[in-house]
Amino acid sequence: MDINKLIDIEYRHGAHNYTALDVVIERGEGVWLYDVTGKKYLDCLSAYSAVSQGHCHPRLVKVLTEQAQQLTLTSRAFRNNRYPYFLQKLHEVTGYDMALPMNSGAEAVETAIKVVRKWAYVKKGVPRNQAEIIVAGGNFHGRTITIISFSSEPQYKDLFGPHTPGFKIVPYGDVQAIKEAITPHTAGVMIEPIQGEGGVIMPPNGYLRQVREVCTQHNVLFIADEIQVGLGRTGKLFACDHEGVRPDVMILGKALSGGFYPVSAALADEAIMGVIEPGDHGSTFGGNPLGSAVATEALNIIMEEGLVENAAVMGQYFQERLAEIPSPHLKEVRGRGLLIGVEVNDQAGGARRFCEALRDEGILCKDTHETVIRFAPPLTIDQETIDWAIPRITQVLNLN
Ligand SMILES: *Cc1c(COP(=O)(O)O)cnc(C)c1O
Repeated sequence: MDINKLIDIEYRHGAHNYTALDVVIERGEGVWLYDVTGKKYLDCLSAYSAVSQGHCHPRLVKVLTEQAQQLTLTSRAFRNNRYPYFLQKLHEVTGYDMALPMNSGAEAVETAIKVVRKWAYVKKGVPRNQAEIIVAGGNFHGRTITIISFSSEPQYKDLFGPHTPGFKIVPYGDVQAIKEAITPHTAGVMIEPIQGEGGVIMPPNGYLRQVREVCTQHNVLFIADEIQVGLGRTGKLFACDHEGVRPDVMILGKALSGGFYPVSAALADEAIMGVIEPGDHGSTFGGNPLGSAVATEALNIIMEEGLVENAAVMGQYFQERLAEIPSPHLKEVRGRGLLIGVEVNDQAGGARRFCEALRDEGILCKDTHETVIRFAPPLTIDQETIDWAIPRITQVLNLN
């Protein structure tokens, strides 16, 4: 079918909740995507970091198809023989005692909020219905009503009230503001170690460590949303590892299943996760055998195929090459590992037009927050591919 026909059907019958670039993908392999005309593109978004293992990783294809023929869903009314292996692997990889599995990232964030609130009531002694969670301005934690209630982005929330109470927003990167916001009712502080959707915003050095210290001092839980930046993206297994910090609650999603099947989880030690009792929370699909098998293998791939190390080495190489590009539009190159933001000047006419031009050159990128082009390829990318991309990016960044 003709591309315009496909785009037209989508426009007429799908809600207009995205402004997708006009490229219709039909196949993916590793770092490459192919559209319906056969044109090849370097994927520099990786489905918002969900496809860190590369598209259609053969090990995941194998596990998915084998498990799909065996057993896909029992619900957790019954046990299945894949979920325990997934839990064991998560424990081995993260060090946390326990996990609560969900599907989308937003559900895992909601799960973390519920765990932390219940912990505040039954362990910390916060009066019922008064728990507060401190979050950062510019955050992105998902799209549910509760989560958008503490967004600072007007479009995400303004016409979707009434909102869920119990959250305080403080400026990102400002530890003093967290200290001042803490009250005896504070249950937790939830932050992204780097704000991905916010425009690849890096907090000042030492921020995560200081947040950790403040939380410990005040008996407040530190919740890290590692959905986008975790599992190797930044060149360490978790973005919090750059400052040697261990959150009390960690939230994972996206790359946890290598882009095959939505799997997410909230993780914590028994002292915290132990507050959850039968009937408190659940999900029909969470912990299902198909998702468990895929996520276990997705973690195996990250650990066994050196993706974390490759993200560190290739991330630094890519950032250095990008920073060298002579361009009248380039304001800043920042990021960590293979989560890179290229900010263009305010006069450059926005990041979107560069993303459209990059598409024409065979590179798929997403603009974020008007002026930032995000480069976040699969963690399997090699130097030869980066060297292929740089002249194309250079050309685009020099368009009038
Ligand atoms: C993508 C993302 C989410 C939401 O995940 P969904 O699977 O889209 O619900 C939450 N937090 C962060 C940091 C994210 O990047």
